[in-house]
Amino acid sequence: MPRSSRGALLLPLEGRRFRTSTVYDAIRAAKRLGDIVRYRFPESIHRHYERLETFPSGLLLLGDAVCRFNPVWGQGMSVAAQEACVLSRLLAERASERDPLDGLARAFFAETAALIVTPWAQAVIPDFIHPKTRGERPADFEQSVKLAMAMTKLAARDPAVHKLTAEVGSLLKPRSVYLDPELGRRVLAVMSEG
Ligand SMILES: Cc1cc2nc3c(=O)[nH]c(=O)nc-3n(C[C@H](O)[C@H](O)[C@H](O)COP(=O)(O)OP(=O)(O)OC[C@H]3O[C@@H](n4cnc5c(N)ncnc54)[C@H](O)[C@@H]3O)c2cc1C
Repeated sequence: MPRSSRGALLLPLEGRRFRTSTVYDAIRAAKRLGDIVRYRFPESIHRHYERLETFPSGLLLLGDAVCRFNPVWGQGMSVAAQEACVLSRLLAERASERDPLDGLARAFFAETAALIVTPWAQAVIPDFIHPKTRGERPADFEQSVKLAMAMTKLAARDPAVHKLTAEVGSLLKPRSVYLDPELGRRVLAVMSEG
């Protein structure tokens, strides 16, 4: 196994056994320039303000204050920006009302809860694959993991599926696009390969 002058491991040769060799090919001649530094992130949190029966008028929360994602998935700023767009639209729609803030929080939390569904699932399901991750695993966790793995396999074979998964991963499309029957049939076919 290649090692740097500091004796550190450069590249796990097991990478050659990955389903595609893309990462292995890209980094096999690379040299590690410094030590690996860990960033500790304690937990992902989704606070369900949409479930509150009452909320103070004139107050609103968004961004990490509502939902904080593991940064490795790169979604927090994107979700905060999407929430800002929702708020902008809701304010514009209510501008001519006598009290534009009346009921604003309820409408805002309902809409943003729906847009958080996709990034939350994208982040939480893979994080729960690690057996020591604490928290309440979704009831359909095992099945979700199998589906996600089959989708990844299919994406490696079909550029159109890869584009779709990239669009969902980048929050350009909701996860509901995966409910397409034809796509579902193809994913199930990959799952049956074992
Ligand atoms: C290492 C890392 C990498 C990330 N990479 C990505 C990425 O690639 N893509 C992506 O979309 N997201 C990424 N994120 C997530 C993203 O940074 C956050 O989701 C986003 O910044 C949340 O915005 P926010 O306004 O809710 O909170 P913040 O950006 O945290 O802003 C809150 C502000 O409030 C201030 N503040 C706190 N307490 C007080 C107080 N009592 N009084 C006054 N001010 C206060 C803080 O100083 C801060 O400036 C990453 C996060 C981390 C930690």
